[in-house]
Amino acid sequence: METKQVKAYGKESVTQALHEMTISRRAIQPHDVEFEVLYCGICHSDLHQIKNDFGGTMWPIVPGHEIVGRVTAVGGHVKGFKVGDLAAVGCIVDSCGHCEYCEDGIEQFCDEGVTFSFNSEDKVSGGHTFGGFSKTYVCNEKYVLKMPSFENLAAAAPLLCAGITVYSPLKHWGAAPGKKVGVLGIGGLGHLAVKIAKAMGAEVIVFTTSPNKVEDAKRLGADEAVLSSDAEAMNKYNRRLHFIIDTVSAKHDVNTYLNLLRPDGSVVLVGLPPEALEIGAFNVVSGRKSFSGSNIGGIAETQEMLDFCFKHNIVAESEIINIDYVNTAFERLEKGDVHYRFVIDMASLV
Ligand code: NAP
Ligand code: ZN
Repeated sequence: METKQVKAYGKESVTQALHEMTISRRAIQPHDVEFEVLYCGICHSDLHQIKNDFGGTMWPIVPGHEIVGRVTAVGGHVKGFKVGDLAAVGCIVDSCGHCEYCEDGIEQFCDEGVTFSFNSEDKVSGGHTFGGFSKTYVCNEKYVLKMPSFENLAAAAPLLCAGITVYSPLKHWGAAPGKKVGVLGIGGLGHLAVKIAKAMGAEVIVFTTSPNKVEDAKRLGADEAVLSSDAEAMNKYNRRLHFIIDTVSAKHDVNTYLNLLRPDGSVVLVGLPPEALEIGAFNVVSGRKSFSGSNIGGIAETQEMLDFCFKHNIVAESEIINIDYVNTAFERLEKGDVHYRFVIDMASLV
């Protein structure tokens, strides 16, 4: 297959630092859109993958799946985009398109498995996918989102993964006026969960391990914020919450949070701790509670989320960085030293 050489940032092994490299992207196919990457967010999933936390990382890896750009070329059959349009890609760049889950708009659960925007087998080119830490991106227009003209386009990039990952379960579990929703872990996902749940009309209570985030959570819009080591403050919420979005990236005790649920409530895990989590039987049988999970969202729902965030003026609190800062950014992300998302200005890759 014809390919194009593209400048990118990636690495060949766990121990290496990310560095400049050249990758081959497929030449545009009839249904493909090519765009220049303007901004790319840094998600904790990028960190898990470059550390090979889940096993199976494909080398070389070019991370980045919160990708915003401007269209530079379109294939002959493309209907929805033209050169010069804003465009965006999140986690999904292909799926079978005909299984019942694809037909239901939950491509993320495709029977044949989705192709992710990076670190995934590319069924079209036969190679593997490279993410948005690069000058251009190419994929089928079905998976390209129409990016609203956010005033701060860079700060909107994190919506493509962090935003949809919390929007989808907030909607599914019914964040709305009269509902008390907990948000556990205030990082990239968590801080957007606070903003989106508030915009949906819910009452939002934040649970954090970081004292400095207790105050900041209120600035983000939370109604209450609790330091999770403060047992007395935690007790106040026993049996009070309708559901909790759990964004924690490392092993933690979920039973503490199951105790905060009302009967029929759920702790919804979106964080991806590499280790298994333990659940005590009495923490779920008592109160008919559930421990559940959610994974990103479908393409139509991602578009709905972008339009919702545009309407409600929601973007990520972002620290915009140049590409040569990316290794330091990952070190800081690992230490929890980010308020609340790094976004790379890809113009810095020259
Ligand atoms: P992040 O910015 O690093 O935020 C994670 C937050 O979790 C931290 O800010 C911290 O919040 C809390 N935390 C971290 N380590 C902890 C520990 N040992 N114990 C308790 N709390 C801890 O990460 P992110 O980008 O938001 O991603 C969060 C997780 O979601 C990652 O595992 C990522 O891979 C996953 N993810 C999943 C999906 C999906 O579709 N399911 C999509 C995107 C990301 P506090 O300081 O407030 O305690
Ligand atoms: Zn992500």
